[in-house]
Amino acid sequence: MFDPRAVRRDFPILDSRVNGQPLVYFDNAATTQKPEAVIRAVADYYRHGNANVHRAAHALSSLATAAFEQARESVAAFLGAASAREIVWTRGATEAINLVAQSWGRANLASGDLILVSTLEHHANIVPWQMLAQQSGARIEPIPLLDDGTLDEDAYRSLLRRSPKLVAIGHASNALGTINPVVRMTREAQDAGALVLVDGAQSAPHRAIDVQALGCDFFVFSGHKLFGPTGIGALWAREALLETMPPWQGGGEMIEHVSFDGTRYGGLPFRFEAGTPNIAGAIGLAAAIRYLGQFDRAELEAHELRLLGYALELCREIPGFRAVGAPPERVSLMSFQVDGLHQQDLGLLLDQYGIAVRAGHHCAMPLMQRLGLPGTLRASFAFYNSLEEVEFFARTLARIVAEQRREATVTAPAAADP
Ligand code: PMP
Repeated sequence: MFDPRAVRRDFPILDSRVNGQPLVYFDNAATTQKPEAVIRAVADYYRHGNANVHRAAHALSSLATAAFEQARESVAAFLGAASAREIVWTRGATEAINLVAQSWGRANLASGDLILVSTLEHHANIVPWQMLAQQSGARIEPIPLLDDGTLDEDAYRSLLRRSPKLVAIGHASNALGTINPVVRMTREAQDAGALVLVDGAQSAPHRAIDVQALGCDFFVFSGHKLFGPTGIGALWAREALLETMPPWQGGGEMIEHVSFDGTRYGGLPFRFEAGTPNIAGAIGLAAAIRYLGQFDRAELEAHELRLLGYALELCREIPGFRAVGAPPERVSLMSFQVDGLHQQDLGLLLDQYGIAVRAGHHCAMPLMQRLGLPGTLRASFAFYNSLEEVEFFARTLARIVAEQRREATVTAPAAADP
């Protein structure tokens, strides 16, 4: 059985105290903590390797370029891409989706064309399509959700009969944890003539990714949710598809030749990477991928799901506790509410005990509207979390809930005498 004690030493921040209490970090779906290997790789780059890439003739620039392009190779291998030419650096999942919308979308969608987006999506996989719809006259239809937090696949098949041009779906939901059946949904969408974008922001941190096995057309993810730095992520698409796409931002790095008579754009993937890239971020992300490479990912996932199962088991004993969504296949994340108590208050009270959770709509307002909820509390786990932390969390939540109930009883106005 996986024991997180040894790996916790790799993450210096996990020794912190917050509000005088040892940090219990259960906000991993927002961003993950960084192992020393990543912190060191970024610092070493700035200490010993900093130069701009792809430009100068000097040795330091060649070194930085080699490290930067090696990082691209690491991401290609991590995703199962056919070559590093299929990896476009972006600031993260959000920018990668905007790239597809503004490049592929503007070139290929016209008035009346249909885009399907699931009800579970993060705003990052909704708003770029709305912007594209405004620009092109395309329409967006949501793929409906069933009450258990899974997508309604019958309704999806009906929508596919309307010949959408694009289906945009999350691999795993950041709000409910649902793992969508993306292989099946992709095959069905492609049979109906659509391209498929899979948002892997929440799946890549928890399971091995193989874009060939997924079969999708575009895959995006963020480095900071994968134990890497912020401000770096990637878009994957097959070379043949990327070749058909126009650039979306102009500037240095993305050109082959510029004159006032016109500009010839560079080849793949540089055509999509205008300006000086996040070199340190790419190197840090490669270090995170190398760090993860020492583990059996299935073993990490089993540990994370054990944490989730234990959290649900303990919290179900708390009066008024309600888990939101019960998807049969999920990543290690628990969305919940406690009857009569506001999620923001509970989040702040948990913070007093050093416990970091997220409270709110999780950038998934259409999902919250569908569920009829203003928001939820979310505890999201990573492999460095322990069963002891889950126990402390559940015990603390039970105590807070009991105290809040007691206070509510004491402060409630006495019933007027008849
Ligand atoms: N998609 C999902 C499912 C996410 O959870 C997030 C981040 N919460 C994003 C996209 C956007 O990622 P980023 O902000 O790193 O671009």
